[in-house]
Order: sequence, then C-alpha cells, then structure tokens
Amino acid sequence: MIPTRIIITIILTSSYIQLCISDKPARGSGSICNTGKRQSPIDLRPHTFFHDPSSLQLINYDFVPERFEVHNDGHTVHLKNFIWADNSPFMTGKSLKNERYIFKGAHLHWSSDDHSGSEHSLVGKRFAAELHLVHYNGKYNSSEEASRHSDGLAVMGVIYATRNYQIPNAGMKLFASLAQTVKQPKESNDEVEPFPLSSFISELDELYTYSGSLTTPPCIENVRWIVLSKTMPISPKIIHMFRNVRLSDGHKNNVRPLQALNNRVIQLYKI
Ligand SMILES: [Zn+2]
Repeated sequence: MIPTRIIITIILTSSYIQLCISDKPARGSGSICNTGKRQSPIDLRPHTFFHDPSSLQLINYDFVPERFEVHNDGHTVHLKNFIWADNSPFMTGKSLKNERYIFKGAHLHWSSDDHSGSEHSLVGKRFAAELHLVHYNGKYNSSEEASRHSDGLAVMGVIYATRNYQIPNAGMKLFASLAQTVKQPKESNDEVEPFPLSSFISELDELYTYSGSLTTPPCIENVRWIVLSKTMPISPKIIHMFRNVRLSDGHKNNVRPLQALNNRVIQLYKI
C-alpha cells in the first residue's frame, strides 16, 4: 500500500508538470497563487546593476531541432515535444549561478491590444506579447524531478512590441504561421518545419533577473526568471494572427495581473 503522503506528492507533482506546460490562468483562493510572497509576473525596474559578459550564455540555441509539435491547449499555444539530433539547447551564466538550465518548451502570452499582452512590465509599461522559454535545471534527471526543487526551473521571457517599420522578429513570424494550424482549442500539429530558438531573439544585450513563480496554477515559487530588458519587434499583422487563435471560454488574453514585489531584489545585467 502506498502511504498517503507519497500519493499526495505524486498528484501534486504530476499536476505541477501538466500545468507548467498547460499554462492555465492563475485562480484558486487559499493556494500559493494568492498567498505566495514571490509570485510572478512583476513590474521590472532595476535595484542593482552589473556589467558582465558572462551573465548569460545561450548554448546550442542555433541548433535546428529534428522535430517538434505545436499545440493549442485553450490557454496558450505551445511549442513542445522537441527532439534534438544532438544536445538540447541550454542557458547558463552568472545570472543562473552558473548552473545549466535545459530547454523544455515555449509558449506565448498576448492580449487584444498592444499594451497589455506581456506578463511582465518594463518600468511600468506592458507590451503586445511575451514569449516564455521554459528550462529545467540539468543537475536533475528530468524536468519532472527538477520541478520538485526550489532551483528547478528557469524561464526566459522575451517581450515583443508592435512596430510597423522594422523587420519583424523571424521566430515570431514562423510561430504565428504555426499557430494558424491550431486555431481551435485542443488542436495539435506535429508536421512543422523546424527552426532554431535563436530565431526568437533579435538581440541579446541586457536582462533582468529575479526569483519568482509560474504565472499559472499551482504558481510554485521555483522559477529563476530571466527577462530581456529590450523588446523585440513584432508587426501588427503577426500579432493579429495570434489574436485570431481561439482560447477556451472565448478569452481574449492569457496574461496574469502584476504581483507584489515584496522584498525581492531585481538585478539588471548588461552582457
Ligand atoms: Zn507563461
């Protein structure tokens, strides 16, 4: 017979992984979503500043995956189930205590207008969309095991602002096309033309880092956030393609409200 405590642990763990991937809106009174002191997203403005080229390294980000899948879970569109010919992409550097965080999957947050679609705000301002590149700590055997530890996850947030007269970000253009193939909730498509993660990042220059949580239930506070401080360009046409994707219950946005900073320190690194 399995002791009750172990069963509860298993249930919590499996729901954690599933929700980490499914990205449902944060609700539920009495949970850490409401009582936690290190919740995300937050307004980002720097407390401390470091100029250090070794603060963040993106390794293998230019690798083209063998395959992956696009999936609309009714709350966001995911890129998941990546298969890599060689090694997976990972990020490391001083902002991550020099630990390796292995890429797991990506999803997007957006809304019906250009000024409320990013989850984090940059010095009081929100933008059209925010991509989350979810990574788990490579010192654990799997993402499931990592998620049980306080240093288990690191998420890179890349914020996109609508700009008409700049070359739009290449990755978002490809992602938007894929999203058109899963416009209805629960649709998936695994016949996609793979492209590298580096397509999402036009410029790596400065980043904010702080300790926070998943922005969806169960809101567990084991995420090291890396949010690039400079927005990447996205065209009005491309952001509209995401707005045409249907979410569950007719929702027009999948953005959690800003959470209290409490006594956390936000660091700004210039690379
Ligand atoms: Zn997210």
